[in-house]
Amino acid sequence: MKKTLLSILLIIFSTQVIAQGSYWQQEVNYEIHVSLDDVSHSLNANIEIEYINNSPETLSYLMFHLWPNAYKNENTALGQQFLDMGETAFYYAADSLRGYIDSLDFYVNGKQIKWNLTEENIDIARLNLNKPLKPGEKISITTPFFVKIPSSDFSRLGHSYQSYQITQWFPKPAVYDRNGWNAFPYLNQGEFYSEFGSFDVFITLPKNYIIGATGDLVDATAEEIWLDSIAEANSKRVHYGNDFSFPESSQEFKTLHYHQDKVHDFAWFADKRFHVLKGEVELKSGHKVTTWAMFTDEESDLWVKSITYLNRSIAFYSEQVGEYPYNQVTAVQGTLSAGAGMEYPNVTIIGYSGDDRSLDNVIMHEVGHNWFYGMLGFNERAHPWMDEGLNTYIESLYMNKYYPTYTLVDGMMGIKVFHAVDYDLMDEYYLSNLMQWRRNLNQPLSLPAQDFTAMNYGLAVYQKTGLTFRYLRAYLGEDEAKRIMLKFFDEWSYKHPLPEDMKAFYEKESGKDLSWLFDELINSTDVVDYKIVSLNKKKDADSLIVKIKNKGGVKSPFVVSALDEGGSVVSSQWYEGVEGSQSIKFPKGSYHSLRIDANKEMTDVYRGNDQIYVNGLIKKRKPFRMVLAWTLPKDEKSTLFWTPVMGWNSYNKFMLGAAFYNSLVFEKKWQYTVMPLYSFTQSNWNGSASLFRNFYDKGKLYRMSVGITAKKYNHRDDYTMANSVTQSFEYYRLVPQMIFDFNPRKSNLTTVNKQLIVRAVFVTEDELKWSEIDPGFSPYPALGENTYQIFEADYTHNNHRVMNPFYYRLDAQFNADFARITAEFRYRFSYGRRKNSGFDVRLFGGYLNKSNDLSFAPNLRMAGTAGRNDYLYDGIFTGRNDRSGMWSQQMIESDGGFYIPTILGQNGKWLGAVNVRASLPKLSFIKAYANLGLDYNDLVQTDAMWEMGFLISIIDRKFEVYFPALWSQNIQDVFELNQSTSYGEKIRFTMRMELANPFKYLKEVRF
Ligand SMILES: [Zn+2]
Repeated sequence: MKKTLLSILLIIFSTQVIAQGSYWQQEVNYEIHVSLDDVSHSLNANIEIEYINNSPETLSYLMFHLWPNAYKNENTALGQQFLDMGETAFYYAADSLRGYIDSLDFYVNGKQIKWNLTEENIDIARLNLNKPLKPGEKISITTPFFVKIPSSDFSRLGHSYQSYQITQWFPKPAVYDRNGWNAFPYLNQGEFYSEFGSFDVFITLPKNYIIGATGDLVDATAEEIWLDSIAEANSKRVHYGNDFSFPESSQEFKTLHYHQDKVHDFAWFADKRFHVLKGEVELKSGHKVTTWAMFTDEESDLWVKSITYLNRSIAFYSEQVGEYPYNQVTAVQGTLSAGAGMEYPNVTIIGYSGDDRSLDNVIMHEVGHNWFYGMLGFNERAHPWMDEGLNTYIESLYMNKYYPTYTLVDGMMGIKVFHAVDYDLMDEYYLSNLMQWRRNLNQPLSLPAQDFTAMNYGLAVYQKTGLTFRYLRAYLGEDEAKRIMLKFFDEWSYKHPLPEDMKAFYEKESGKDLSWLFDELINSTDVVDYKIVSLNKKKDADSLIVKIKNKGGVKSPFVVSALDEGGSVVSSQWYEGVEGSQSIKFPKGSYHSLRIDANKEMTDVYRGNDQIYVNGLIKKRKPFRMVLAWTLPKDEKSTLFWTPVMGWNSYNKFMLGAAFYNSLVFEKKWQYTVMPLYSFTQSNWNGSASLFRNFYDKGKLYRMSVGITAKKYNHRDDYTMANSVTQSFEYYRLVPQMIFDFNPRKSNLTTVNKQLIVRAVFVTEDELKWSEIDPGFSPYPALGENTYQIFEADYTHNNHRVMNPFYYRLDAQFNADFARITAEFRYRFSYGRRKNSGFDVRLFGGYLNKSNDLSFAPNLRMAGTAGRNDYLYDGIFTGRNDRSGMWSQQMIESDGGFYIPTILGQNGKWLGAVNVRASLPKLSFIKAYANLGLDYNDLVQTDAMWEMGFLISIIDRKFEVYFPALWSQNIQDVFELNQSTSYGEKIRFTMRMELANPFKYLKEVRF
């Protein structure tokens, strides 16, 4: 082991600075008397809080959380977060479904005080003390309060009819710690942080309610109270259909007194329908814990086994982290709107699970939070990884113990057909994260809870932390990792350890520099990527000299293993992290190959470069394998994926072929696809291909792709020439291009995608050339060829936020013949509950340095692009050059944006248009539209035109059908001139098949 003197000194120094002696925390004890009104769905309560100032500072005010106010209106932090996450239900919710807290009147030591809601957040209050609170002093704070319970459709506090989830419900001091006040608004994705103390809660409600709550029942035993309810839970399953037949509430009331010491929160769940099961688990010390399961008829066939899950998860965590000290654990089934389950001290609420394993998984996870969140009182808002991540780490150990044969494929498809039997839960976490790592879309773990995208919250906070601590476990050894975890819990339970406390503790205990984990893997988006460069057998008598290169940004330890012919590990050795290239010594032996991380315990982002063969000419050879699309990649082999593909267009008719590619879900630096398609009608090969090299950066530009695409199809009907030879018409397109994607992670939840594409489009198309042999004779048809190149720069800015999304695009095209510059802007004034609904405005302006040439392909056009006008061959047009029939009516929204197929407005120098559409109130997929356009050319000067009609929008601007109703006289005149008067021919549709391409989709979509 190598370590510099400096880092040893730093470890000793930092350990002393955060010595336990200087640690302090506040104490808060509560007495709450609350009664539930199950007709108006509200709480009437009085609270008395004993606040003890253990800090070295004098406090002149206290910060309080009044979190039921988060549900008061759409302007709260919670309301805004729902919108940020793309959820509009709360925004449009009636006041009757929302909630709040009021009737507050704070007294301190019997004297009324001044207090106010903070300006930024109505769910945070500042209580100004009449007399400053000195270190070591305590005060008594009292207030009545009233809570209107919101609908449980939104988050964690709520009711569904007479099923009550009473959480984050009472006035509560924010944590005051060495960083000062930690006051923050309630968030759905936000986590918690509270002071430890004791709770005495007296709940009054109709007699026939059953309650699951934090703490021990004081005046009566739970058996006496729930005895009648411990009826056998039936195995009848009412799956996913909530049973809302509630028994009448009893006219008599009861008051239940709950007490608990050394917890930081109190939650309770009340329902008249609960079945109750009771169990008990005895821990190693002899301490017995009572377990309760409360559930309705729904999924009761799963819940009858829940006591087993509760008992063994308490035993498992007690053994892995520290013994459970409280008397009871309760799991309650509820209609949860915030994830699969939610943790509170002693009590957890569990949503619908679907199957046995999932129910076990959710119960054990939420029970596990009694350790990470409950007893280890992390500041989860600021450091969510400490809570969810460490819990996920223990969760994976539990799941691997009780479900050792579970594989990724079981989870994904329920069948074991494909090559995934050697993937376990951690591999699932690794692969999910790999998707984001490879795409450069990960976020640092050190961010506060609200700064993660929903996807990264699950992938990074939970899974990457889990993976990282498994990495640490592999490095330290199983027993050592467990020993340190147990000791850490022992030292820091009922306290508020920060990341630096954990780092100092782990470094002190392990005697190792763990900055690679606590600083690099947690604080940055850097990834682990070690590579075996070369192997030298001759240089050293006893050792193989292996040259290692650190290609990632993290100087983390790594393990090298020797493998035998069958791929089994013969011996392994850990090495401290290196920077750049370095040679290491590995003991000699008769091995087949050497491999970094053979047991897949590290988080190496490119495992493909981890192997080298000991013998043979090509030491870094990789066996080739060709597999079907849905097979998972194998790192030690180079994989070619393939999938059968069918195609159809008007000219090639039915085509059959296959797509071959090297990566889809897990992006690679080099990516290629080849898709040959054979046309049986034309007896010719068609298809497309692409080759890209991706470059990544942590700055503003997060990915640059340089590459080339090619395609070839028939593009018009065959034509029989004068010599009776039938000629088919093909086109070829080649596009070298550079795609610049600007960082979507610059701010956490940004909904903005910005992209610049610079490309050259080379087209060669067969065309029918008409020539006259002699003047006066009929023109003679012949096969000709049309070849052109167009250069383009195209910038798009797309803000796809859920309310008032907007988009703009600037595009410039040119070649030796022309220059064409266009700008498009779209804005939606959202007014409907559905995401697609609102009033949309589109503005377009374009300039072309050419006019009066109707046949010129790149003309500005009032009507959206038809197949024959798609001169860049960007769209997928089924009947590209059809002149009649359904496929001739396919279009792409562009330029003037008119839906009616007018040939007016096609030869202008300037073209401008305003397009508006408004969705109908109840039927958001039907919209009324109106388009107004203006074009200017040298010939007739200004031309104005308009149209109105209705459209059906299945996918906004991608799958739509347009029905024009009224149009301007000049459009009508041209129709009459051309004798095209059928209404059916004026209906057009958009079908952007090219946007459904999975390669395109996965490249564009950002979670
Ligand atoms: Zn959790």
